Amino acid sequence: MLRTHTCGQLNLGDVGKNVTLAGWVSSLRDHGNIIFFDLRDRYGLTQIVCNLPQLPESIVEIVKKIRQEFVIQVSGTVVARSPETVNPKISTGSIEVVAKNVEILNTCEPLPFEIVESKSINENTRLKYRYLDLRRDDLKENIVFRSEFTGKMREFFFSEGFVEIETPILTKSTPEGARDFLVPSRLNPGSFYALPQSPQLFKQILMISGFDRYYQIARCFRDEDLRSDRQPEFTQVDIEMTFVEENDVMEMCERLMKYAIEKTTDIEVKIPFPRLSYEEALNRFGTDKPDLRAGMEIVDLSELFTDSGSNILEGILQAGLIIKGIVIEQEENVSIKDVDSINEFVRQKGGKGIGWIRFRDNEIVSPLKKSLKDETVENLIKALKIKVGSLLLFLGGEHQWVCETLGEIRLAMCKKLKLINEKSLNFLWVVDFPLFEYNKEEDRIQCVHHPFTSPRTDNVNILDSEPLKVKSRAYDLVLNGTEIGGGSIRIHNRLLQEKIFSILGMQPEEYNDRFGFLLDALSYGAPPHGGLAFGLDRLVMILRNEDSIRETIAFPKTQKGVCPLSGAPSVVNEKQLRDLYIKVDFKPKE
Ligand code: ASP
Repeated sequence: MLRTHTCGQLNLGDVGKNVTLAGWVSSLRDHGNIIFFDLRDRYGLTQIVCNLPQLPESIVEIVKKIRQEFVIQVSGTVVARSPETVNPKISTGSIEVVAKNVEILNTCEPLPFEIVESKSINENTRLKYRYLDLRRDDLKENIVFRSEFTGKMREFFFSEGFVEIETPILTKSTPEGARDFLVPSRLNPGSFYALPQSPQLFKQILMISGFDRYYQIARCFRDEDLRSDRQPEFTQVDIEMTFVEENDVMEMCERLMKYAIEKTTDIEVKIPFPRLSYEEALNRFGTDKPDLRAGMEIVDLSELFTDSGSNILEGILQAGLIIKGIVIEQEENVSIKDVDSINEFVRQKGGKGIGWIRFRDNEIVSPLKKSLKDETVENLIKALKIKVGSLLLFLGGEHQWVCETLGEIRLAMCKKLKLINEKSLNFLWVVDFPLFEYNKEEDRIQCVHHPFTSPRTDNVNILDSEPLKVKSRAYDLVLNGTEIGGGSIRIHNRLLQEKIFSILGMQPEEYNDRFGFLLDALSYGAPPHGGLAFGLDRLVMILRNEDSIRETIAFPKTQKGVCPLSGAPSVVNEKQLRDLYIKVDFKPKE
């Protein structure tokens, strides 16, 4: 070994020892006869003191050549720091190593950015020099945390009898609603593999094989436009179990979360997690992934505004639409400008605008003040327990649109007024999803989850007559307003699976071609089974209090799917293409 200790290891108990450390020079302070530097490795920092007059000339020459981020090896003696120079912020802050010998193991070019500041640097530059960026404490700790966290999950799975099984990366298209990444097959000219969007079909097939409890920390690939914080490849903690119902999977996941989080953080996870139906989540929070850390629930106002005196409101209700609202208790913190921008937001979403009433001492302020009956105002105050100093915002329109729009306003206002306790973890299951939804743009029915999700048994009889009313056996896990996992009890009956494909508009020829292997497997003794998958990147992001999943992935890609470090994706040479029988019909701009 080139070292006897790491840079995070030495303390007062080691004083007097002769040690050898190796690491990167993280900062350098030259005081003429004395040069100090902090030597850094994965484990921490140790202050090195080079007392030049006491060192042989050959060593002094080496010391003088040292620059930031050089890799060096130092041998010397551990001494206690004088009380006024103790640094309580680092684990080795009460000692320093007085160098006797120093060797340069490697040099370093002038840095493109200061390591400690790299988080504020342009992201492309950070990603291009990711090896430097990864030297930064925050990022390094995220990556180490991720490893510990998955380690604890593995520990849990192992203790519960799960089998870790790898499924193919070169596979056949398994749709999860995104575009596939395709890989041409040289040995089968004209044919392509797809990279898996998830191991969904293989994990189901493993249940048919009898593996009973499967998990995998699985890489998934989806060729989507990377609008929000997404990556073309991401990691799922993928789980499947046999002879289970919804509760069994959910209960196991709760224990898994509790175990892995409590073993790796000081956060206490209370189980069981609350459950909300999809409908209730939409009605009360305007989304299927509500953040329950904030209050400000959406309230129904249709009844309270019936016969309110306002022609506008009554017109909305008479047209069969609804009115809902939110009550913000700090009226004085919501300015006229804030309300204007909410209005603008509502208009952008196709609405006419937001209604509002400010409840002040003995009076209300509102554009509807003149028309609103006193009785309506009194009823509002009573029914909604409105306090003086509150602002009621309300919106009329079609049910789903009103809920979703108010849901977005609610979240934005909770953030603006800092009503969210950022430190807490709020888990929640959303259940009772519809099986299908209607895609207006494409005028067709599509799955809310994926086509292998089982309908509720007592809804199978209305699959043909009222497909949009059918509820599924799916469940989503939401953490702090972000969906971090989802799964379902699956279809294990071939005929039912075929029926779902046909409701989705597929002819037998198409579904047999795409999913014949699954349908066949379902006919050879498929047991009832179900499972779920967590998005690992996102979960780690929340646990580490980061804003982007890119802070949890060692080598992420940019929004355009580019890896600035390696330059992927890149043009390949003619021969490689010829071997694959591929001609590229695209000329990049010069
Ligand atoms: N395969 C699903 C997904 O990727 C998860 C599941 O249903 O288990 O979302």
